[in-house]
Amino acid sequence: MALVTSKEMLEEAKKNGYAVGAFNVENMEMVMAVLAAAEETGSPVIMQTTPGTIKYAGLDYYLANVRAAAERTKIPVVMHLDHGNSFELACKAYRTGYTSIMIDGSKLPFEDNISLTESVVRVCHSGGVPVEGELGKVGGKEDDLVGDDSNPYTDPEEAKIFVEKTGVDFLAVGIGTSHGVYKGIPKVNVEVLASIRDVVSIPLVMHGTSGVPDDQVKDCISKGICKVNYATDLRIAYTEGVKAHLKEHPDDFDPKKYSAPAMEKVKAYVMQKMEVVGSCGRAAR
Ligand SMILES: [Zn+2]
Repeated sequence: MALVTSKEMLEEAKKNGYAVGAFNVENMEMVMAVLAAAEETGSPVIMQTTPGTIKYAGLDYYLANVRAAAERTKIPVVMHLDHGNSFELACKAYRTGYTSIMIDGSKLPFEDNISLTESVVRVCHSGGVPVEGELGKVGGKEDDLVGDDSNPYTDPEEAKIFVEKTGVDFLAVGIGTSHGVYKGIPKVNVEVLASIRDVVSIPLVMHGTSGVPDDQVKDCISKGICKVNYATDLRIAYTEGVKAHLKEHPDDFDPKKYSAPAMEKVKAYVMQKMEVVGSCGRAAR
């Protein structure tokens, strides 16, 4: 079927106490692998691209791949802009046909983040496309995205004001997670999350989830997280699949030969995470 927006998908998740996985896709094979995992588990799914990925091939290329995936299936599929870093890119993704938009003004002063986010909300809502904002900081590094590791936590009172003033549909919160590969085992601050949930009623979003232990992710979902982002681990899974194949078959030169095991690795990883976030069987088929 056609791509859907994330609005109803995440409201449904919130109502029923589970989350939907949002998986960063870098190429056609990763789109195919994520779709295969969603179909096999009966899970609604969000596929997303960062500005760094978009720089590699363009919004239209990724959208075409994900749209083709959606049209092959009865599973609801969303195409989301992850960490939109300007008003221009957010509007361009919206006009190109992305069905869910994130504008990340979290590095800006509070009032500037509000006005940037509010302006993107105004544009996207005119076409029925929901918007994710970010308040607080997710540390680490992913592509061009360099986080701020100082005082990473979202202030619950600010979150309440931010949501009221901007009209955002979902909020990404700083609860101690980081992008990229963790050094050591991360510790999510569930107390901060719980106090945000007490004052903010919209679905909350967890970033930098690769490497966070599954039991912590589940705990966060029980405290209001409805969208869980995975990026780094998909890249690792894909690359491990390619490397393992080429080690065994160093003379292979057909990309189809070494992409197949890479897709299998990504699919297995995504299926396991769909289990963790509780989205399996939630897609009406
Ligand atoms: Zn993120």
